[in-house]
Amino acid sequence: MSRLAVASIDLAALTANLARLRALAAPARLMAVVKADGYGHGLERVARALAGADAFGVAAIADGQRLRAAGHAERIVVLSGPDAPGDLAELRRLDLDAVIHHRSQLEWLEAEAGGAPLRVWLKVDSGMHRLGFAPQCVAEVHARLARLPQVHPEIVLMTHFAASDEFGNALTAQQIEAFAAATRGLPGPRSLSNSAALLGWPAARGDWVRAGGLLYGLSVVRGKTGADHGVVPAMRLATRLIAVNRVAQGEAIGYAGTWRCPEAMPVGIAAIGYGDGYPRSAPSGTPALLREREVALIGRVSMDLLALDLRAVPDARVGDEVVLWGPDLPVEHIAAAAGTISYELTCGVTRRVLFVER
Ligand SMILES: *Cc1c(COP(=O)(O)O)cnc(C)c1O
Repeated sequence: MSRLAVASIDLAALTANLARLRALAAPARLMAVVKADGYGHGLERVARALAGADAFGVAAIADGQRLRAAGHAERIVVLSGPDAPGDLAELRRLDLDAVIHHRSQLEWLEAEAGGAPLRVWLKVDSGMHRLGFAPQCVAEVHARLARLPQVHPEIVLMTHFAASDEFGNALTAQQIEAFAAATRGLPGPRSLSNSAALLGWPAARGDWVRAGGLLYGLSVVRGKTGADHGVVPAMRLATRLIAVNRVAQGEAIGYAGTWRCPEAMPVGIAAIGYGDGYPRSAPSGTPALLREREVALIGRVSMDLLALDLRAVPDARVGDEVVLWGPDLPVEHIAAAAGTISYELTCGVTRRVLFVER
């Protein structure tokens, strides 16, 4: 089989989304979060399109290395910081900022004999209970960092929200308050917001907004799509029909025969499956687009293939393009059907899929 499944990445959409988010965030600066290979869109191409960002956020030092190798001179923040003492030298060599969220990292810094000033983001656990120092420890940790000559004197104070995508959820208001109390009187820029908080929690704007999903045109707000927030989806995932079959009434489709034809009908087989990152959990009825019409997935998604009810497009032919998600079919709808979020779907597109830029 040739590579029929294609993820096309709209670089102009990324650039336009960045401009929109910068305007929304202003006067705060904008960190473009490009972890997980740019939410599955491809790190280098995404960074090229987002080069106007004030900084990049990555999850791993290796991603910072890739960005430096591609020639990026922007600030790059490693969102979980060093994982071992030896990472400190690597962070300095690549001129990467480090998030410091744990005492072990503080101790590695204090044990250093010297070194060029490392730029540090001190992470406060304001209630998510994933990474960060407890509020009552923040002043002490800040003081210990501030007296180290091997730490840059401007320490950014940051926290992360657990539920900012729920605009009515009181937890975010509590987190904003807990962060303010923990950092009161300490110098340095503040960074609280992710994409959803940029939309729904203006009180959390701070000095640095860390946006990922919205840059790619993705939403995690229940019932909303990227377009609802004024951003353009950057990924379009499509493939082709490799078979169109007429199947008799009562016959079952695919593994385990989970769907039966209610009448004699045309069934299309599209060259994409969970081996390409299309979710196996997508149930019968999940939409796809064919000749600009919606057709429904039927039966189980296989590794390389999936079946489509072609009754809405009886003239469909082998070779026709099938769109799985994109600007005309929000990935949020597919994610909702599959019981996940849009981020997981774009991150999950596999290496077998051909990536092109448009
Ligand atoms: C992933 C991440 C973000 C970006 O979140 P989005 O919802 O994609 O905007 C921001 N901050 C931290 C610490 C993250 O891990």
